[in-house]
Amino acid sequence: MQGLLVIISGPSGSGKGTVVKRLSPENGYALSISVTTRAPREGEVHGRDYFFATEDEFKNLRAENALLEHAAYVGNFYGTPRKYVEEQIENGKIVVLEIDVHGALQVKEKFPAAVLIFLIPPSLPELSARLNNRGTEDAVTIEARLKRALEEVPLINRYNYLVVNDDIPDAVHKIDSIVTAERLKPARSAKIIQEFIDSQKEF
Ligand code: 5GP
Repeated sequence: MQGLLVIISGPSGSGKGTVVKRLSPENGYALSISVTTRAPREGEVHGRDYFFATEDEFKNLRAENALLEHAAYVGNFYGTPRKYVEEQIENGKIVVLEIDVHGALQVKEKFPAAVLIFLIPPSLPELSARLNNRGTEDAVTIEARLKRALEEVPLINRYNYLVVNDDIPDAVHKIDSIVTAERLKPARSAKIIQEFIDSQKEF
């Protein structure tokens, strides 16, 4: 099957990370691991959650054109390694990028066939509660992240789908359904159509 690029964005605390981790490699999903200059949170592992880098390392990757997109988010840099994404799409995988809106719109410019999904929590008080309960950020950072969440709202209309995450299995199911439907679009099935035409030789 043809590869598919899926971008999932949403405010921090929307549950993106949890949802994305449930998209299983057995179902063809390949999760891209980003590079960031943010310090690791407790429990985060280099090479699994992120590739943690210094600002100089990040700038070098950017200069080498090794990043498909990059953006600054509340004081840190984040970027998507280009090679992994290109290889996995070539291998027919559903490549998932969990990135912010600015990065998402950069990727959409380069890959117009990418599918953009925005995930929101049911409300801002719910988002605030989730960030506070997570306990990984101080009050100032939480405030900045909530402000950023509101700033991103007008950009939701640039996305193809909106999923409200009030229940994780349900959000995962909705994303799976979107991916299934997208893969069935004729525009993504040129090979299947050609094989069908070619099969007339077997009459
Ligand atoms: P966090 O610090 O909570 O892990 O991530 C902060 C924000 O950065 C989230 O909105 C997340 O989706 C976004 N992000 C993570 N990796 C990337 C990336 O490679 N590129 C861009 N543009 N944003 C990213």
